[in-house]
Amino acid sequence: MQNQSPTQNCSSRKSHPPLLDFDNNMRSVLSTLTHGPIPDQAWSQATLPFSYGGLGLRSASRFASAAFISSCHSTRLLSPETIPSSLLTQDFTFPGEVTALDLLTDLLGEQPDQPSQIACQRLLDQQQFNHLKSQLDIRNQVRFLAVSGSLETSSWLKAVPLSSMGLAMLGHEYNTSIRLWLGIPTITMSPPLVCPCSATMDQFGDHACTYVCHEVPTGYNDIMP
Ligand SMILES: [Zn+2]
Repeated sequence: MQNQSPTQNCSSRKSHPPLLDFDNNMRSVLSTLTHGPIPDQAWSQATLPFSYGGLGLRSASRFASAAFISSCHSTRLLSPETIPSSLLTQDFTFPGEVTALDLLTDLLGEQPDQPSQIACQRLLDQQQFNHLKSQLDIRNQVRFLAVSGSLETSSWLKAVPLSSMGLAMLGHEYNTSIRLWLGIPTITMSPPLVCPCSATMDQFGDHACTYVCHEVPTGYNDIMP
């Protein structure tokens, strides 16, 4: 393989700096969008696909080995045109392929049955989803299961923001919705806001959003400030 792509080259090392830089830059952009730091658990959720309650901001460093193995497999299928027949043996592997498979096996805890990227990606997503769920407290588990319940739940994230059709959100609405989606506190005022019922507004806005209290000011529970 004379003309390897950057992704193919990256996969044979566990912490390739450009891939980590890419991930960190994505996290930084999300942080700018939500006006605050992104905690590790929230970032882990954000890197999942919509169907798992994420924002689809896939981690380049996490998926590099799967992409590389898939690329090797696809290239091998074209082997008569791309690989000299002298090298074409049953045990032939591309440079870095064994290392990439070891990395992926480490990540998954087992060797993947199928070398396709989609199959490996699904396994990685499922593993990350289960791991994240097991790390969350009860409140956040409920939230996480709610946002990952069905594809329709994330429809608002995929809507084209057309004001004329009522599909555009204001900046603070989008910001707050993302924070609620990822379980990042929405209220960090000091001193904390107090509801007319005298209850203190909690940092996730549960008191205002759950309709338990009927004294929350009108419109306040449409979207938190
Ligand atoms: Zn209240």
